[in-house]
Amino acid sequence: MQDLLSSTKSINCRNFINGKFIDEVEERKFANINPATEEEIGWVAEATKQQVDEAVAAAKQALQGPWGKFTVKQRSNILRRIGDLILENVEELAALEATDTGKPYLLALEMDIKRAAHNFHFFADYVTSLSNDSYNQDNIALHYTVTRPVGVVAMINPWNLPLLLLTWKLAPCLAAGCTAVMKPAELTPMTATRLVELCQEAGLPEGVVNLVHGFGADSAGAFLSEHPNVDAITFTGETKTGTTIMKAAAPTLKKVSFELGGKNPNIIFADSDLDEVIDTTLKSSFMNQGQVCLCGSRIYVERSVYDTFLEKFVERTKELKIGNPFNEATDIGAVIGKEHYEKVLSYIELAQEEDGHILTGGGRPASIPKGYFIEPTIITGLTQQSRCVQEEIFGPVVAVLPFDSEEEVLAYANDTKYGLGATIWTNDLRRAHRVAAQIESGIVWVNTWYLRDLRTPFGGMKHSGIGREGGSHSFEFYCEVSNVTIKL
Ligand code: NAD
Repeated sequence: MQDLLSSTKSINCRNFINGKFIDEVEERKFANINPATEEEIGWVAEATKQQVDEAVAAAKQALQGPWGKFTVKQRSNILRRIGDLILENVEELAALEATDTGKPYLLALEMDIKRAAHNFHFFADYVTSLSNDSYNQDNIALHYTVTRPVGVVAMINPWNLPLLLLTWKLAPCLAAGCTAVMKPAELTPMTATRLVELCQEAGLPEGVVNLVHGFGADSAGAFLSEHPNVDAITFTGETKTGTTIMKAAAPTLKKVSFELGGKNPNIIFADSDLDEVIDTTLKSSFMNQGQVCLCGSRIYVERSVYDTFLEKFVERTKELKIGNPFNEATDIGAVIGKEHYEKVLSYIELAQEEDGHILTGGGRPASIPKGYFIEPTIITGLTQQSRCVQEEIFGPVVAVLPFDSEEEVLAYANDTKYGLGATIWTNDLRRAHRVAAQIESGIVWVNTWYLRDLRTPFGGMKHSGIGREGGSHSFEFYCEVSNVTIKL
């Protein structure tokens, strides 16, 4: 597997507008860095305002072209073909993703790329199964609905699951007949750049999918958010960025869907099966270096099993292998980049100022001199009010806190500004239902974590998001519905 790294050509990332990669503007090129090696792996062409305008114009024009006349079956066939092409290129895409993000290659293969293909296959099936609503109102009138695509959709994406989250938006967008201007995160441009080639190979007409690279403020992200010809914005990223995008989109009243930050509770009752809890908690704490919006970074353990849990959890965490993402045995790769690395380390320092005790981890591994690696870190002794328990760290860092009663842990679980995901571990069925119904979060898992079915709603409440994605929830975002009433 080591060979994959050297055999993977790094790709320079150009903007893709109206079916073509366009020439880069020399002074707007910026370097793309591999976080595991700190080496430059290519460059990225930051889009100018004019190029973003051209991308939006191409997407608008494409709505009137052949794409607008595609039947549902034709759209479904194209989606299926894109999914197939992702699978045909699965190893190359996984190697690009691992190189761009620093995540373990095997994780990129299973979690990012295969699931990206599944997003297309799912919506290829989904779109052929739909029917419109109709109502006969007491033989006075017949009502029926007509749906049409919402129009040009801007997709602004984060760096943690680049292709997976991009395709989670693009597949329903195309299924609904919309056109897209995608902006990947500036730190992870490679798989999106490869994806537009695959879309073209699958037969998508020019202008339907466009790609602009760049940053947020004063760059492609902001240009798209305020663009008068963008009809809807789907954004995944930080809560603070969501508020900025919402303000920029307000004057033109764009439809918005926001998947934002989280600080998710993982609640462990004493009656749960601790071995199973620990197997899954290792993943929910440290998968993708803790850089999954759904990671359970606040672990609440019922006091009677607190010591036993900690002893086993620390022991198993120490066994995790950290290092080269292309090594088959690697569990933990590098975090995304220098700035984020420093941010995560600053939270570990802050935890100590907040009287936290580090039970394992706490910094960069002594054996790895280069790359943005941080040891999986477990902290105890923090209070519910501490910043490390309240704020999203988004790294391989968890806080473990004891609790004595269901009421107490429910109050803790709901006591942050976020409301994305929560996990409950218990073998008491009634308690599982009772607690699940009271947790303020868009997703609640009982005795599992990260188990998803694409038909189910996905998203956050409070400061974790606006709207839901998944099945009909995704699809409706990309549609406008009219009701037609015919007097009988
Ligand atoms: P980020 O908000 O910094 O960036 C996300 C995207 O927004 C990037 O493409 C960036 O260039 C762009 N952007 C930044 N400023 C902008 C602006 N002013 N206008 C327009 N676009 C702008 O987020 P990130 O650091 O890339 O990702 C990590 C965050 O994403 C975490 O908070 C995590 O919880 C969240 N996330 C949430 C989900 C979810 O489903 N809820 C999933 C993954 C990640």
